[in-house]
Amino acid sequence: LFISFEGGDGAGKTTQITRLAEILRAEGREVVLTREPGGSEGAEAIRKLILEGDADRWSPLAEALLMYAAREDHLERTIIPALHRGAVVITDRFADSTMAYQGLAGSLGEETVSTLYKLVVGERGPDLTIILDIPVEEGLKRAGHRAGDKKNAGHGGEQRFESKGTAYQEEVRQAFLEIARREPERCLVVDARGDEESVAAQLRKAVEARLPG
Ligand code: ATP
Ligand code: C5P
Ligand code: MG
Repeated sequence: LFISFEGGDGAGKTTQITRLAEILRAEGREVVLTREPGGSEGAEAIRKLILEGDADRWSPLAEALLMYAAREDHLERTIIPALHRGAVVITDRFADSTMAYQGLAGSLGEETVSTLYKLVVGERGPDLTIILDIPVEEGLKRAGHRAGDKKNAGHGGEQRFESKGTAYQEEVRQAFLEIARREPERCLVVDARGDEESVAAQLRKAVEARLPG
């Protein structure tokens, strides 16, 4: 089973993924927790290239190609082997983030991003995508408080978009909701405004319904 978590900055993706992995592991399942951009040695190196520079370091197409180069490596080296072992793979962001940030809300447009998706992902996409939906201001407030998580702290994601303002983040939010409308079988929108416990409870129900055995 391949599950992706999507949603704007500070929606609670990393928090909820960690909890879900604990629950599934306690049931005796092998869980591989991973993230994008990143998730394999090569893809983590590309993540640094993307996130550590200024927001305009790369042209929009170059950035999307880097995202997709990272995704190809992540699929080949981490995701596909784990799925073949029978593990549950949970990724913190996947291709819908590129469609939302660079495609629908960004300047690249959805056709280019769709073309890359078909080339690289094809039929290898997630079985289930959880979209954590939260008003932009609330998400940014949460992301500003994000602390203690070394792997995740200080990646500067939210600062990257400061110059674009919250209007861009709002477009990203709407883009995720549009993706969910287009693919209702795969995507599940979860209201992320509640406290950690209530969001976790909603999620658990959705995932259990799709688990094999
Ligand atoms: P990013 O996209 O920026 O990585 P994220 O979606 O992974 O963000 P988290 O890092 O999980 O979000 O959460 C952001 C901050 O909000 C953290 O400090 C976390 O402890 C807190 N938080 C997570 N879930 C909730 C919740 N339901 N209510 C209040 N605060 C929360
Ligand atoms: O920890 P997080 O998943 O949020 O880190 C990734 C950062 O990169 C985010 O801030 C997100 O806004 C940005 N991103 C992006 N385009 C993608 C995926 C992520 O700009 N396709
Ligand atoms: Mg996170």
